[in-house]
Amino acid sequence: MPIDIAAGLALCKNALDIVMAVRKAIRDKKKLTDEEIRDYLETLQDKLVDVKTALMEADEENRSLKGQLAEAKRMADFGAEFTTGEGLYWREKYPYCPTCWDTERKAVRLGEIPFDTDRGEIWQCPVHKVHHVTQQRH
Ligand SMILES: [Zn+2]
Repeated sequence: MPIDIAAGLALCKNALDIVMAVRKAIRDKKKLTDEEIRDYLETLQDKLVDVKTALMEADEENRSLKGQLAEAKRMADFGAEFTTGEGLYWREKYPYCPTCWDTERKAVRLGEIPFDTDRGEIWQCPVHKVHHVTQQRH
């Protein structure tokens, strides 16, 4: 079961509380039995393992989010150069699917269907399979 960062921080505090309790016992010249020392160490070990797991999961999630952010930034930069016309987005004379861009911020270049009509050209979104007819020819 994943441990979130807040839970990992709470475990870290618990581990530090144990260390503080042992240090106080030493400062107060209290003799700890072998069993008490073993219990403290086992509890510390368990908490540190959970903290390590939480950090590893947080690192993995962080990497994933950074990847998603970089991809979103790349797409936003790409889309910043779009122009509009005939209900489509255009970039370097090629049309892009308005549905893919408007709903998912994915720049999906439309494929031309080799079927010349009197009205113009037919383009198809490779994702949605929707056809768009344009008067503009490229
Ligand atoms: Zn599409």
